[in-house]
Amino acid sequence: MSARFGQEVGAPWTRLRFHMNVDRVVSAVAPGSGLAFAAVVATRSVAEMRCRHDSSPTATAAMGRLLAASALFGISLAPHEWVTLRISGDGALGTFGADSRLLDDGAIGARAYAAHPLAELPPNALGKADVAGIVGSGTLHVTKSYAIGQPYNGVVPLTTGEIAEDIAFYLANSEQIPSVVALGVLMGPEGVRAAGGVMAQVLPGADPAAVDRLEARARALAAPARSVAEGADAWALLEMLAGDEPLRSRHELGVRFACHCTLERVERALLGLGAETLAEMAASGESTEAFCDFCRERYLIEPSAIARLAGER
Ligand SMILES: [Zn+2]
Repeated sequence: MSARFGQEVGAPWTRLRFHMNVDRVVSAVAPGSGLAFAAVVATRSVAEMRCRHDSSPTATAAMGRLLAASALFGISLAPHEWVTLRISGDGALGTFGADSRLLDDGAIGARAYAAHPLAELPPNALGKADVAGIVGSGTLHVTKSYAIGQPYNGVVPLTTGEIAEDIAFYLANSEQIPSVVALGVLMGPEGVRAAGGVMAQVLPGADPAAVDRLEARARALAAPARSVAEGADAWALLEMLAGDEPLRSRHELGVRFACHCTLERVERALLGLGAETLAEMAASGESTEAFCDFCRERYLIEPSAIARLAGER
């Protein structure tokens, strides 16, 4: 028997539900304090991302943190909305990005890419993955696309390149929401051991004493990936940051690596090569292999399709 995690399988009377290690994003609000919380476990999604891109350990940490951040933003998405995070840095990883959208089955589909996922750096002075080094300095762009109306665009300079601090800086400066963000990917010899993140946002009119308590908890917070490796699920991560604040409006969604690429989108991307190059490719009589940047899915494009594209220019 095979089953995807998170899916109900079997006849109704033998229905099994796989909850172990399921990627999930959760959120809740502490209305009395004026704080909002979200947390994500993204181990399987980041592991699939690493597999598809064959990314180095440090690249996996950077891309995985951004994927986890996109899932944290994703919990508030409505159908046909999406959020895109893109970092343009001058480090060895090059431009990289992650996005999340609501899938037809109600889960969050997240994906990530990088210009140079094979790039690697030695550990930093603390013996940890040198994410700041592989990212370099540059900018963080956030785009929130809505089903109706213009998308929201925000761009901020990177503050540390460690991703979590950069996301918090973006929220404080572009959306005027003071925030605490922690993101992490824990690698082991077997690959991705754990990935997760937490976020707290200070809403307008928040109780200053509650904000002080939040800051104290944030300073004492264990690395989220370490907590996930020790068995914490998304709700446990959230409660580590929420403490004993009374929570309401609890919300949770499944998360999985998902790409929405199609042959048509890949063909459209090929148009960027220019009519002359496309005509040459068509004349060669050979099929062209193209890969989706986000999921590395392989597409084979026939010479007749290339000729058609060349004609469309
Ligand atoms: Zn794809």
